[in-house]
Amino acid sequence: MYNKESMKAEEFINHEEIMETLAYADAHKDDKVLLREILDKARERKGLGHRDASVLLACEDEEIIAECYKLAEEIKQDYYGNRIVLFAPLYLSNYCVNGCLYCPYHGTNKNIRRVKLTQEQIRDEVIALQDMGHKRLAIEAGEDPINNSIEYILESIDTIYNIHHKNGAIRRINVNIAATTVENYKKLKDAEIGTYILFQETYNKESYLKLHPTGPKHDYDYHTEAMDRAMEGGIDDVGLGVLYGLELYRYEFAGVLMHAEHLEAVQGVGPHTISMPRVKRADDIDPDEFDGGISDETFAKICALIRIAVPYTGMIISTRESQKVREMVLPLGVSQISGGSRTSVGGYAEEEAPEDNSSQFDVSDRRTLDEVVNWLMRLGYIPSFCTACYRAGRTGDRFMELCKNMQILNCCHPNALLTLKEYLEDYASEDTRRIGMEMIQKEIAVIPNEKVRQKTADYLNDIVAGGRDFRF
Ligand code: SAM
Repeated sequence: MYNKESMKAEEFINHEEIMETLAYADAHKDDKVLLREILDKARERKGLGHRDASVLLACEDEEIIAECYKLAEEIKQDYYGNRIVLFAPLYLSNYCVNGCLYCPYHGTNKNIRRVKLTQEQIRDEVIALQDMGHKRLAIEAGEDPINNSIEYILESIDTIYNIHHKNGAIRRINVNIAATTVENYKKLKDAEIGTYILFQETYNKESYLKLHPTGPKHDYDYHTEAMDRAMEGGIDDVGLGVLYGLELYRYEFAGVLMHAEHLEAVQGVGPHTISMPRVKRADDIDPDEFDGGISDETFAKICALIRIAVPYTGMIISTRESQKVREMVLPLGVSQISGGSRTSVGGYAEEEAPEDNSSQFDVSDRRTLDEVVNWLMRLGYIPSFCTACYRAGRTGDRFMELCKNMQILNCCHPNALLTLKEYLEDYASEDTRRIGMEMIQKEIAVIPNEKVRQKTADYLNDIVAGGRDFRF
């Protein structure tokens, strides 16, 4: 029944196909000849199918795993260079009618403080985020047709885009809200959102139904087919994700790759991003109660293999992960991270009270944005606040085409330097500014195209005189 071109969830995420894939992976995980063939295929940088990638995931041979890591690092360098894009989540409301067993927002949690931000409160949050230096947000909300209606989400997006405090501006809003209708996706597209993000949580239908016992999210098919509806509504950048820890990671890994293959086959473009969240402790949630917990090493292996299997898809790591884990996975293909995040509703404008339980999960990386920017540069990464792609029309297949041809380096790299300079001028601490200015000087010199290099240098000078925003 497996058919990646079908529009039915159970056919493009087909349980039997996943089970056969896992059995195939187990049967071949020690087959060195096959493993080497798969690695050679991966070296062509055209990605890997879910079966081949699953064999690498099952393999325990240290030499092969080391080669996978090395290849992931090379692919990351080829397509993304040393840039890391920064963003922050903004929680609008934790009202929710679902019953997700892993999430403290579930409707029956009477303990949690319920908050829905007013437009005035959103203003305060956004000003606080702009004052940190953020330009890109991911808005988050529980599912509640009355409290968190699409009109509320659209009004909030409009509010956010229209706040210009000092030199600040939010230039890209990615949206992580519950699965919805084509009509609502069209409205989100018209509101000029960046990526529509929706985590599958688990691709295993049986587990999914148990983990989402009540509420609209219980409908596995509706949830799994959401990205097709989003794309039908005109949103061509969509972000997938699995909540690792709930189910067996090998099942999820095959599932997310099958989902990507389906979008590529049917919509002509794969996912823009894949997020890598792991279940965390939260108000009434104990992550140890779920079966699928994975070690940091396995997590890193999954990151490396996602990079190899879908080279043109961005990979996102949030502050659910500690500095140590982030340092481990950054070189393996991560392209975006959050920084200075608060997961409580209203947590940016007001200092979170220790007893506040409106957060969605415990944050492991609690450093400020300035500390994160400083740390990235010390590790040799260029922190990028660029939001140019979708505003310059580089979305969906146009972005993928540029990325595949490695052309993205001609715009992303200079734009990263320009937006970093903006950050350094407007928000950075003295030490961060010093390191950043040195990095910019070094990085202009390596821009291969002479014209682009010259223009970048001119635009960088403009910033001091008040010029802002991307140029390429
Ligand atoms: N309500 C929307 C939905 O249903 O997709 C928005 C998602 S929610 C604000 C963002 C994501 O947080 C969820 O999709 C889930 O994967 C993740 N999440 C929920 N509980 C979590 C926990 N305890 N630890 C880590 N991540 C969690």
